[in-house]
Amino acid sequence: MATPLLEVRGLEKRFAVGGAWMSGRRRVIHAVDGVSFTIERGEVLGLVGESGCGKSTTGRLILRLIEPSAGSIRFEGHDLVALSPPRLWATRQRMQIVFQDPFASLNPRMRVGSIIAEPLAIYGRADTADRQRQVGDLLEVVGLDPAFADRYPHELSGGQRQRIGIAAALALRPSLIVADEPVSALDVSVQAQVLNLLMALRRTFGLTYLFISHDLHVVLHMSDRVAVMYLGEIVEIGPRDALHRAPQHPYTQVLLSAVPVADPTLRRERIVPKGEVASPLAMPAGCRFHPRCPFAFDRCRVERPVLRSVNAGHEAACHLHDGR
Ligand code: SF4
Repeated sequence: MATPLLEVRGLEKRFAVGGAWMSGRRRVIHAVDGVSFTIERGEVLGLVGESGCGKSTTGRLILRLIEPSAGSIRFEGHDLVALSPPRLWATRQRMQIVFQDPFASLNPRMRVGSIIAEPLAIYGRADTADRQRQVGDLLEVVGLDPAFADRYPHELSGGQRQRIGIAAALALRPSLIVADEPVSALDVSVQAQVLNLLMALRRTFGLTYLFISHDLHVVLHMSDRVAVMYLGEIVEIGPRDALHRAPQHPYTQVLLSAVPVADPTLRRERIVPKGEVASPLAMPAGCRFHPRCPFAFDRCRVERPVLRSVNAGHEAACHLHDGR
């Protein structure tokens, strides 16, 4: 069996918050807590969950933009956590990110051409003339006229800026792109255009995506498999169609019930969970979803469920699937 492009095992990120270390008031937040998954070459794995569930932190950990507290991240067979700084630097060429806010992620003082050429210059790829040619090609690839190279980010629309962010991410010909809420800052009218562009680029360049979004509707549209996160943990992961047709975790059922469906005969009854998401500073014991879960029973309040297989390639962390 081929090695996955990306293999994440037991990934954790703990943040200390509160007063100084010596004050005794410091507390620890488990932003990402034991996350494991793989992504095959050419696959799109969607990572979905509410704001603050740890999905964007997971994306940044994979790229080593922030340091993990524990766990392993194997990319193209190499453990990124163990790589020396020079080898990590070299490997990062093949792993890129598209950020949520295309205005904040582009340097307002640089022209578009310089923004796209910057990764090529940093990695010593091509001479100046060849970089200019590649910038023109990349602008065309993302659906923009090469003349955009002379503009500044503030002269562009939100959709155009996100296309520039995508062109810059493509410059080094990565194999993996972490797309972190790539359309949530855009007008609804341009979201579909950028999503379609990402899908077309996947086919053209054989890209692999970790596609992160709070919007399950968008994730279902984009992904081959879907992982659902809640309070730092993956609570369900499986093939897109299986998860859509028969969600196995009550939290996934909540998210799915809010997805708009055009066909009235296929609409699900809206499930509104009790209360609010717990504070990461006061994590519930047992199943983290139990204070909101309509199916919670005694065991859920004391024992933390682990991911178990419910069908081929489909896992859920819920005591309903391993007997009461
Ligand atoms: Fe609900 Fe219990 Fe399953 Fe958690 S383990 S999702 S509380 S039924």
